[in-house]
Amino acid sequence: MTAILTTNNVHLYYGEKEALKGVSLAYDDNSITALIGPSGCGKSTYLRCLNRMNDLIPNIRITGSFNFQGTEIYAPDTNLVTLRRQIGMVFQQPNPFPFSVYENVTYGLRLNTSLKKAELDERVEQALRQAAIWDEVKDDLHKNAMSFSGGQQQRICIARLLAVQPDIILLDEPTSALDPISSVQIEETLLALKSDYTIIIVTHNLQQASRIADRTAFMLDGHLIEVDLTSQLFTQP
Ligand code: ADP
Ligand code: ADP
Repeated sequence: MTAILTTNNVHLYYGEKEALKGVSLAYDDNSITALIGPSGCGKSTYLRCLNRMNDLIPNIRITGSFNFQGTEIYAPDTNLVTLRRQIGMVFQQPNPFPFSVYENVTYGLRLNTSLKKAELDERVEQALRQAAIWDEVKDDLHKNAMSFSGGQQQRICIARLLAVQPDIILLDEPTSALDPISSVQIEETLLALKSDYTIIIVTHNLQQASRIADRTAFMLDGHLIEVDLTSQLFTQP
């Protein structure tokens, strides 16, 4: 199988500080990879390289290759808006825009003026269903997204991302700010999404990795120290 995304020998410097020290890892489609490791080891830094969320940090220097479907993510002609639609990100704190659920989910589609109202409605329903939040919001699509619970807001954010039909979903500790029940709902949502997407999730929770990830990659002090099939990791000899 050809990887959808390959990162090779990635080094990243914040000024003098080397935060990533030669990270190489490839991702197959329809898989969940968990990135795990102690606070400060470089997990978020690495994840943010994948859709160039780090770009605006002053004095940052990134070397190595990031091949996404045959093209280099850091090529000079990369369109960042397109890239971030193809490789979308969900953050630790749910961050819906302070508009209605409907406006949140259609946000990334608003420039696509060829979509008719009925088609937009269908995309909204489909994205909210995929994010397992449809039943909870279908009668309140015009309510402010910020009026929902944290777990619901996070699933609305996932729906917003899915509406633009990305290839890869990056999640940076998406359940750390949520209660246990909401966390399990997000985990179940990710497992259901796996058949259509490539998912990369930063977590500090080894149990979470064991529940959802096909592969677990361990980072320590800017190095990727080990990558294992999660099933093997948790099997006693
Ligand atoms: P993790 O996600 O594993 O907790 P981070 O990627 O956030 O780790 O951080 C890795 C290292 O890079 C840490 O030492 C952190 O302090 C440093 N770092 C993160 N962001 C910046 C930044 N914008 N400027 C300088 N150093 C940073
Ligand atoms: P444009 O206005 O050119 O479409 P934006 O930068 O507004 O570009 O948005 C690009 C994509 O990034 C959109 O799909 C949007 O939903 C998403 N996006 C923008 N800001 C955020 C954010 N704070 N959190 C999550 N997604 C965002």
